[in-house]
Amino acid sequence: MIIVVKPGAPEDQVREILDQLESHGLKAHISEGSERMIIGVIGDKSRLSVDSLEVLPGVEKIVPIMESYKLASKAFRPEGTAFAVKDVLLGGPEIVMMAGPCAVESEEQVDIVAASIRKSGAKFLRGGAYKPRTSPYAFQGLEREGLKILRQAADRHGLLVISEITSETDIEYASDYVDMIQIGARNAQNFRLLSAVGKSGIPVLLKRGIAETIDELLGSAEYIMSEGNYKIALCERGIRTFETATRSTLDISAIPVLKSKTHLPVIVDPSHAAGKSKYVAALSRAAIAAGADGLIIEVHPNPKCALSDAAQQLTPEAYHTLTEEIRAMAPILGRTYPV
Ligand code: PEP
Ligand code: MN
Repeated sequence: MIIVVKPGAPEDQVREILDQLESHGLKAHISEGSERMIIGVIGDKSRLSVDSLEVLPGVEKIVPIMESYKLASKAFRPEGTAFAVKDVLLGGPEIVMMAGPCAVESEEQVDIVAASIRKSGAKFLRGGAYKPRTSPYAFQGLEREGLKILRQAADRHGLLVISEITSETDIEYASDYVDMIQIGARNAQNFRLLSAVGKSGIPVLLKRGIAETIDELLGSAEYIMSEGNYKIALCERGIRTFETATRSTLDISAIPVLKSKTHLPVIVDPSHAAGKSKYVAALSRAAIAAGADGLIIEVHPNPKCALSDAAQQLTPEAYHTLTEEIRAMAPILGRTYPV
Protein backbone atom coordinates (compact mmCIF):
# COMPACT_ATOMS: atom_id res chain seq x y z
CA MET A 1 0.00 0.00 0.00
CA ILE A 2 0.98 3.61 -0.25
CA ILE A 3 -0.04 6.41 2.08
CA VAL A 4 -0.67 9.80 0.53
CA VAL A 5 0.20 12.43 3.13
CA LYS A 6 -1.98 15.56 3.39
CA PRO A 7 -0.32 18.50 1.62
CA GLY A 8 1.40 20.67 4.21
CA ALA A 9 1.00 18.13 7.04
CA PRO A 10 3.29 19.18 9.92
CA GLU A 11 6.28 17.05 10.83
CA ASP A 12 4.71 15.57 13.97
CA GLN A 13 1.80 14.21 11.93
CA VAL A 14 4.21 12.55 9.50
CA ARG A 15 6.17 11.18 12.48
CA GLU A 16 2.95 9.71 13.88
CA ILE A 17 2.36 7.81 10.63
CA LEU A 18 5.93 6.51 10.56
CA ASP A 19 5.71 5.45 14.25
CA GLN A 20 2.51 3.57 13.57
CA LEU A 21 4.17 1.68 10.71
CA GLU A 22 7.33 1.00 12.69
CA SER A 23 5.39 -0.38 15.67
CA HIS A 24 3.89 -2.96 13.31
CA GLY A 25 7.31 -3.93 11.96
CA LEU A 26 6.69 -2.25 8.60
CA LYS A 27 9.25 -0.39 6.54
CA ALA A 28 8.45 3.08 5.21
CA HIS A 29 9.94 4.41 1.98
CA ILE A 30 9.33 8.12 1.55
CA SER A 31 8.89 9.82 -1.79
CA GLU A 32 8.78 13.60 -1.58
CA GLY A 33 7.25 15.01 -4.74
CA SER A 34 6.89 18.69 -5.53
CA GLU A 35 3.26 18.63 -4.41
CA ARG A 36 2.92 15.86 -1.90
CA MET A 37 4.68 13.26 0.18
CA ILE A 38 3.97 9.62 -0.46
CA ILE A 39 4.93 6.81 1.91
CA GLY A 40 5.42 3.36 0.43
CA VAL A 41 4.74 0.64 3.00
CA ILE A 42 6.67 -2.60 2.73
CA GLY A 43 6.24 -5.69 4.87
CA ASP A 44 3.54 -7.95 6.29
CA LYS A 45 0.51 -5.71 6.67
CA SER A 46 -1.85 -8.41 7.94
CA ARG A 47 -1.83 -7.10 11.53
CA LEU A 48 -2.31 -3.46 10.63
CA SER A 49 -5.82 -2.28 9.83
CA VAL A 50 -6.20 0.37 7.18
CA ASP A 51 -8.73 2.10 9.49
CA SER A 52 -6.09 2.72 12.13
CA LEU A 53 -4.02 4.58 9.56
CA GLU A 54 -6.85 6.42 7.88
CA VAL A 55 -7.85 8.14 11.14
CA LEU A 56 -4.42 9.73 11.56
CA PRO A 57 -4.63 13.49 10.89
CA GLY A 58 -1.69 13.53 8.46
CA VAL A 59 -3.18 10.89 6.17
CA GLU A 60 -5.01 12.02 3.06
CA LYS A 61 -5.69 8.57 1.68
CA ILE A 62 -4.49 5.01 1.54
CA VAL A 63 -4.02 3.45 -1.87
CA PRO A 64 -3.66 -0.32 -2.03
CA ILE A 65 -1.21 -1.52 -4.70
CA MET A 66 -2.14 -4.81 -6.25
CA GLU A 67 1.10 -5.36 -8.13
CA SER A 68 3.91 -7.26 -6.43
CA TYR A 69 6.16 -4.24 -6.95
CA LYS A 70 5.31 -1.15 -4.88
CA LEU A 71 8.20 1.31 -4.89
CA ALA A 72 8.66 0.90 -8.63
CA SER A 73 4.98 1.51 -9.31
CA LYS A 74 3.77 4.74 -10.84
CA ALA A 75 1.58 5.42 -7.79
CA PHE A 76 4.69 5.84 -5.61
CA ARG A 77 5.88 8.81 -7.67
CA PRO A 78 3.16 9.84 -10.11
CA GLU A 79 5.19 12.79 -11.36
CA GLY A 80 8.00 10.48 -12.54
CA THR A 81 11.58 10.16 -11.36
CA ALA A 82 14.53 12.14 -12.56
CA PHE A 83 17.83 11.52 -10.83
CA ALA A 84 21.31 12.89 -11.19
CA VAL A 85 24.43 10.89 -11.87
CA LYS A 86 27.02 13.53 -11.07
CA ASP A 87 26.00 16.40 -13.38
CA VAL A 88 23.78 14.37 -15.71
CA LEU A 89 20.05 14.16 -15.12
CA LEU A 90 18.37 10.93 -16.18
CA GLY A 91 14.62 11.06 -16.71
CA GLY A 92 14.61 14.83 -17.24
CA PRO A 93 13.90 16.69 -20.49
CA GLU A 94 17.32 15.97 -21.98
CA ILE A 95 17.79 12.84 -24.10
CA VAL A 96 20.76 11.13 -22.49
CA MET A 97 23.14 9.24 -24.75
CA MET A 98 25.39 6.45 -23.53
CA ALA A 99 27.82 4.99 -26.04
CA GLY A 100 31.01 3.01 -26.33
CA PRO A 101 32.35 -0.35 -27.36
CA CYS A 102 30.76 -3.65 -26.48
CA ALA A 103 33.95 -4.62 -24.67
CA VAL A 104 36.94 -2.65 -23.52
CA GLU A 105 39.79 -4.00 -25.64
CA SER A 106 42.61 -1.48 -25.30
CA GLU A 107 43.38 2.03 -24.11
CA GLU A 108 43.62 3.30 -27.67
CA GLN A 109 40.31 1.77 -28.74
CA VAL A 110 38.44 3.32 -25.82
CA ASP A 111 40.13 6.69 -26.21
CA ILE A 112 39.16 7.01 -29.89
CA VAL A 113 35.54 6.16 -29.11
CA ALA A 114 35.38 8.42 -26.04
CA ALA A 115 36.68 11.43 -27.97
CA SER A 116 34.23 10.93 -30.83
CA ILE A 117 31.07 10.21 -28.84
CA ARG A 118 31.73 13.22 -26.61
CA LYS A 119 31.68 15.42 -29.71
CA SER A 120 28.32 13.89 -30.68
CA GLY A 121 26.77 14.79 -27.31
CA ALA A 122 27.13 11.54 -25.34
CA LYS A 123 27.22 11.86 -21.57
CA PHE A 124 28.18 8.30 -20.63
CA LEU A 125 30.98 6.10 -21.90
CA ARG A 126 29.98 2.45 -21.92
CA GLY A 127 32.23 -0.57 -22.26
CA GLY A 128 32.19 -4.10 -20.93
CA ALA A 129 35.01 -5.09 -18.60
CA TYR A 130 33.29 -8.24 -17.33
CA LYS A 131 31.69 -9.78 -20.39
CA PRO A 132 28.86 -12.30 -19.94
CA ARG A 133 29.58 -14.46 -23.01
CA THR A 134 27.53 -17.39 -24.19
CA SER A 135 30.71 -19.44 -24.67
CA PRO A 136 33.35 -19.80 -21.94
CA TYR A 137 35.96 -19.81 -24.71
CA ALA A 138 34.99 -16.36 -26.05
CA PHE A 139 36.74 -13.16 -24.93
CA GLN A 140 35.72 -12.61 -21.32
CA GLY A 141 36.81 -8.99 -20.93
CA LEU A 142 39.77 -7.19 -19.36
CA GLU A 143 38.04 -7.09 -15.96
CA ARG A 144 39.74 -4.69 -13.49
CA GLU A 145 42.14 -3.38 -16.12
CA GLY A 146 39.11 -2.64 -18.33
CA LEU A 147 37.48 -0.54 -15.63
CA LYS A 148 40.65 1.51 -15.23
CA ILE A 149 40.88 2.13 -18.98
CA LEU A 150 37.28 3.30 -19.06
CA ARG A 151 37.70 5.67 -16.12
CA GLN A 152 40.82 7.26 -17.53
CA ALA A 153 39.30 7.79 -20.97
CA ALA A 154 36.08 9.13 -19.47
CA ASP A 155 37.98 11.60 -17.30
CA ARG A 156 40.08 12.74 -20.26
CA HIS A 157 36.99 13.50 -22.31
CA GLY A 158 34.50 14.69 -19.69
CA LEU A 159 32.25 11.62 -19.70
CA LEU A 160 30.68 9.43 -17.03
CA VAL A 161 31.33 5.68 -16.89
CA ILE A 162 28.74 2.94 -17.11
CA SER A 163 29.87 -0.68 -17.03
CA GLU A 164 28.38 -4.06 -16.30
CA ILE A 165 29.19 -6.12 -13.27
CA THR A 166 28.22 -9.74 -13.10
CA SER A 167 28.99 -10.63 -9.51
CA GLU A 168 28.40 -9.20 -6.03
CA THR A 169 32.09 -9.54 -5.34
CA ASP A 170 32.95 -6.95 -8.03
CA ILE A 171 30.77 -4.15 -6.67
CA GLU A 172 33.27 -2.73 -4.22
CA TYR A 173 36.13 -2.61 -6.70
CA ALA A 174 33.90 -1.24 -9.48
CA SER A 175 32.56 1.52 -7.22
CA ASP A 176 35.92 3.32 -7.50
CA TYR A 177 35.70 3.41 -11.30
CA VAL A 178 32.10 3.55 -12.46
CA ASP A 179 29.39 6.18 -12.06
CA MET A 180 26.62 3.77 -12.95
CA ILE A 181 26.47 -0.01 -12.74
CA GLN A 182 24.88 -1.95 -15.55
CA ILE A 183 23.02 -5.13 -14.70
CA GLY A 184 22.92 -7.14 -17.90
CA ALA A 185 20.08 -9.09 -19.41
CA ARG A 186 21.53 -12.38 -18.19
CA ASN A 187 21.52 -11.20 -14.59
CA ALA A 188 18.18 -9.41 -14.72
CA GLN A 189 16.74 -11.86 -12.21
CA ASN A 190 19.85 -12.57 -10.17
CA PHE A 191 18.11 -11.39 -7.04
CA ARG A 192 21.12 -11.52 -4.72
CA LEU A 193 23.07 -9.36 -7.15
CA LEU A 194 20.13 -6.95 -7.41
CA SER A 195 19.89 -6.66 -3.62
CA ALA A 196 23.63 -6.10 -3.39
CA VAL A 197 23.61 -3.25 -5.93
CA GLY A 198 20.61 -1.90 -4.04
CA LYS A 199 22.67 -1.80 -0.84
CA SER A 200 25.60 -0.17 -2.66
CA GLY A 201 23.53 2.91 -3.51
CA ILE A 202 25.35 3.26 -6.86
CA PRO A 203 23.04 4.31 -9.72
CA VAL A 204 21.93 1.31 -11.78
CA LEU A 205 20.96 0.69 -15.38
CA LEU A 206 18.81 -2.41 -15.12
CA LYS A 207 18.46 -4.29 -18.37
CA ARG A 208 15.42 -6.36 -19.16
CA GLY A 209 16.06 -10.10 -19.26
CA ILE A 210 15.99 -11.86 -22.60
CA ALA A 211 12.68 -13.52 -21.66
CA GLU A 212 11.50 -11.24 -18.88
CA THR A 213 8.00 -9.77 -18.85
CA ILE A 214 7.54 -6.10 -18.06
CA ASP A 215 6.10 -6.93 -14.63
CA GLU A 216 9.05 -9.20 -13.91
CA LEU A 217 11.42 -6.39 -14.87
CA LEU A 218 9.64 -4.14 -12.40
CA GLY A 219 9.98 -6.89 -9.80
CA SER A 220 13.73 -6.83 -10.45
CA ALA A 221 13.76 -3.05 -9.99
CA GLU A 222 11.86 -3.52 -6.73
CA TYR A 223 14.68 -5.70 -5.36
CA ILE A 224 17.06 -2.78 -5.83
CA MET A 225 14.65 -0.14 -4.56
CA SER A 226 13.64 -2.12 -1.48
CA GLU A 227 17.26 -1.76 -0.33
CA GLY A 228 16.87 2.02 -0.51
CA ASN A 229 18.51 2.65 -3.90
CA TYR A 230 16.05 4.60 -6.05
CA LYS A 231 18.57 5.62 -8.71
CA ILE A 232 17.50 3.12 -11.33
CA ALA A 233 16.92 3.48 -15.04
CA LEU A 234 15.28 0.58 -16.84
CA CYS A 235 16.63 -0.64 -20.15
CA GLU A 236 14.65 -2.26 -22.94
CA ARG A 237 17.21 -4.21 -25.00
CA GLY A 238 15.05 -6.57 -27.00
CA ILE A 239 13.44 -9.84 -26.06
CA ARG A 240 13.61 -13.31 -27.55
CA THR A 241 10.80 -14.06 -29.97
CA PHE A 242 10.31 -16.42 -32.91
CA GLU A 243 11.79 -13.79 -35.24
CA THR A 244 15.33 -14.45 -36.38
CA ALA A 245 15.92 -11.49 -38.73
CA THR A 246 17.24 -9.53 -35.78
CA ARG A 247 19.20 -10.78 -32.77
CA SER A 248 16.31 -9.93 -30.45
CA THR A 249 13.00 -8.17 -31.02
CA LEU A 250 13.03 -4.61 -29.73
CA ASP A 251 9.83 -4.30 -27.72
CA ILE A 252 8.83 -0.76 -28.60
CA SER A 253 5.54 -1.26 -26.73
CA ALA A 254 7.52 -1.72 -23.53
CA ILE A 255 8.40 1.98 -23.58
CA PRO A 256 4.85 3.42 -23.23
CA VAL A 257 3.82 0.46 -21.06
CA LEU A 258 6.70 1.12 -18.65
CA LYS A 259 5.90 4.83 -18.68
CA SER A 260 2.36 4.01 -17.54
CA LYS A 261 3.36 1.44 -14.91
CA THR A 262 6.44 3.00 -13.36
CA HIS A 263 8.02 6.33 -12.57
CA LEU A 264 11.51 5.13 -13.45
CA PRO A 265 13.36 6.50 -16.51
CA VAL A 266 13.57 4.24 -19.57
CA ILE A 267 16.69 3.84 -21.69
CA VAL A 268 16.72 1.79 -24.91
CA ASP A 269 19.57 -0.34 -26.23
CA PRO A 270 18.96 -0.74 -29.97
CA SER A 271 22.35 -2.40 -30.53
CA HIS A 272 21.71 -5.66 -28.70
CA ALA A 273 18.12 -5.73 -29.95
CA ALA A 274 19.11 -5.40 -33.61
CA GLY A 275 22.34 -7.36 -33.55
CA LYS A 276 23.08 -5.72 -36.91
CA SER A 277 24.48 -2.23 -37.23
CA LYS A 278 22.31 -1.33 -40.23
CA TYR A 279 19.14 -1.41 -38.09
CA VAL A 280 20.44 0.54 -35.12
CA ALA A 281 19.59 4.06 -36.34
CA ALA A 282 15.97 3.22 -37.23
CA LEU A 283 15.40 1.53 -33.88
CA SER A 284 16.99 4.49 -32.10
CA ARG A 285 14.60 6.92 -33.76
CA ALA A 286 11.63 4.70 -32.96
CA ALA A 287 12.67 4.42 -29.31
CA ILE A 288 12.99 8.16 -28.85
CA ALA A 289 9.70 8.78 -30.67
CA ALA A 290 8.03 6.28 -28.30
CA GLY A 291 9.20 8.19 -25.24
CA ALA A 292 12.56 6.73 -24.21
CA ASP A 293 14.66 9.01 -22.01
CA GLY A 294 17.90 7.99 -23.64
CA LEU A 295 19.82 5.42 -25.65
CA ILE A 296 22.79 3.15 -25.02
CA ILE A 297 24.60 2.32 -28.24
CA GLU A 298 27.65 0.26 -29.11
CA VAL A 299 30.38 2.16 -30.99
CA HIS A 300 33.76 0.77 -32.03
CA PRO A 301 36.55 2.45 -34.03
CA ASN A 302 36.80 -0.60 -36.28
CA PRO A 303 33.71 -2.78 -35.76
CA LYS A 304 34.75 -5.63 -38.04
CA CYS A 305 37.77 -6.32 -35.82
CA ALA A 306 35.81 -6.13 -32.53
CA LEU A 307 36.40 -8.95 -30.06
CA SER A 308 32.66 -9.17 -29.32
CA ASP A 309 29.43 -8.13 -31.05
CA ALA A 310 31.24 -7.09 -34.24
CA ALA A 311 28.08 -7.14 -36.36
CA GLN A 312 26.15 -4.59 -34.33
CA GLN A 313 28.70 -1.94 -33.40
CA LEU A 314 28.59 1.41 -35.19
CA THR A 315 31.57 3.33 -36.44
CA PRO A 316 32.01 6.73 -34.78
CA GLU A 317 30.84 8.31 -38.07
CA ALA A 318 27.63 6.27 -38.22
CA TYR A 319 27.03 7.07 -34.56
CA HIS A 320 27.42 10.76 -35.26
CA THR A 321 24.88 10.64 -38.11
CA LEU A 322 22.41 8.86 -35.84
CA THR A 323 22.82 11.48 -33.10
CA GLU A 324 22.15 14.28 -35.58
CA GLU A 325 18.82 12.62 -36.35
CA ILE A 326 18.01 12.34 -32.64
CA ARG A 327 19.01 15.96 -32.16
CA ALA A 328 16.60 17.01 -34.92
CA MET A 329 13.77 14.98 -33.37
CA ALA A 330 14.21 16.30 -29.82
CA PRO A 331 12.30 19.62 -30.06
CA ILE A 332 9.32 17.98 -31.80
CA LEU A 333 9.02 15.70 -28.79
CA GLY A 334 9.41 18.48 -26.24
CA ARG A 335 12.88 17.24 -25.32
CA THR A 336 16.35 18.67 -25.46
CA TYR A 337 19.63 17.35 -26.85
CA PRO A 338 22.99 18.61 -25.58
CA VAL A 339 24.58 21.40 -27.62
C1 PEP B 1 26.05 -5.22 -22.92
O1 PEP B 1 25.39 -4.19 -22.90
O2 PEP B 1 27.27 -5.24 -22.95
C2 PEP B 1 25.32 -6.52 -22.90
C3 PEP B 1 25.97 -7.66 -22.72
O3 PEP B 1 24.01 -6.41 -23.11
P1 PEP B 1 22.81 -7.38 -22.65
O4 PEP B 1 23.04 -7.69 -21.20
O5 PEP B 1 21.60 -6.56 -22.89
O6 PEP B 1 22.88 -8.58 -23.54
MN1 MN C 1 27.63 -6.18 -26.74
